[in-house]
Amino acid sequence: MIMSNWKHKHILDLSKFSLDDYKTVLELTTRFQDVPTTRSRKLPALQGRLVTNLFFESSTRTRSSFELAAKRLSADVQNFSVATSSLNKGETPLDTILTYIAMGTDILIIRHESTNVPNELAHYIDKHHINTSILNAGDGFHSHPSQGLLDLFTLANFFSPTNPSPNSLSNKKITIVGDILHSRVARSNLWALTGCGADVTLCGPKSLLPDEFSDFVLRPPSGQKYDPIKNRGSIVIKRSLKDALKGSDAVMTLRLQKERMHQNMLTDLDTYHNHYGITHESLKWCEKKVPVMHPGPVNRGIEISSQILEDDSISLIKNQVSNGIPTRMSLLYLLANRNIIES
Ligand code: ASP
Repeated sequence: MIMSNWKHKHILDLSKFSLDDYKTVLELTTRFQDVPTTRSRKLPALQGRLVTNLFFESSTRTRSSFELAAKRLSADVQNFSVATSSLNKGETPLDTILTYIAMGTDILIIRHESTNVPNELAHYIDKHHINTSILNAGDGFHSHPSQGLLDLFTLANFFSPTNPSPNSLSNKKITIVGDILHSRVARSNLWALTGCGADVTLCGPKSLLPDEFSDFVLRPPSGQKYDPIKNRGSIVIKRSLKDALKGSDAVMTLRLQKERMHQNMLTDLDTYHNHYGITHESLKWCEKKVPVMHPGPVNRGIEISSQILEDDSISLIKNQVSNGIPTRMSLLYLLANRNIIES
């Protein structure tokens, strides 16, 4: 059915994705989008495979979305929860992880509050010639690849409903507003959006958006020798929301991630909302009607107004949630079938 020549054993960070990788994920996601409407609601593609959800940090959307995606592909699914685990008896996270690997899991989906835990684990697995794939479901500030890809799909599907592809993003101006510094979602989106040729405008106060972000994609992570994308879109920083929204084709706003702030980096939430809140009034600066996205969870009345959240003619937030399932099905499918060519 599907030609898959997928090279990645693990999905850790979108900095390693090529244009072909994005194309493959968008094509496959488009196909899987119809599965919930088929009679059985399932495909047998991952029958007999074991998928483990290992979330050391809380999650509503991502964990349930991965679980549903694995079930839609007929995989067996295990869910680890910190509260009921032996971590409470003093077991180290690595020993917990190795327990699941010893059970023969094929794909280990991991979320951890510390940056690089998924990378270090993948390194360990490769060093010990273990067959398990690691799928990063969010590590610290660093990376959230499945969110970056579902956001990419949501935008590509919005701009080209009949054929979502990397080209759908080419030369589009996407504005990302808010707490960029603490956001792994923003980082993954920067790789994905510029990788598909979109120009990104970042907007926020200096405390949440340091100037260095304009060079973000010029610095592939340490250990990565080259950027697989030749011509990326640009990144510019604007401090004023009015300037940032001018000419935008889509707006993405982010949660203020107070749990990741070392000290109180914001003096007053009302002032923040007045400067950076996405509302029907501030959206007028776009000069045309544009869609609004948010990865959730949302702080109503801070980064986004309740009225925008509830305006289905503007908000793509529900689409992001529903598109998360076929996107994650694609990732699980590709990891399970890498280097296999099916006809
Ligand atoms: N759910 C996203 C994440 O895990 C965004 C957020 O928490 O604000 O990074």
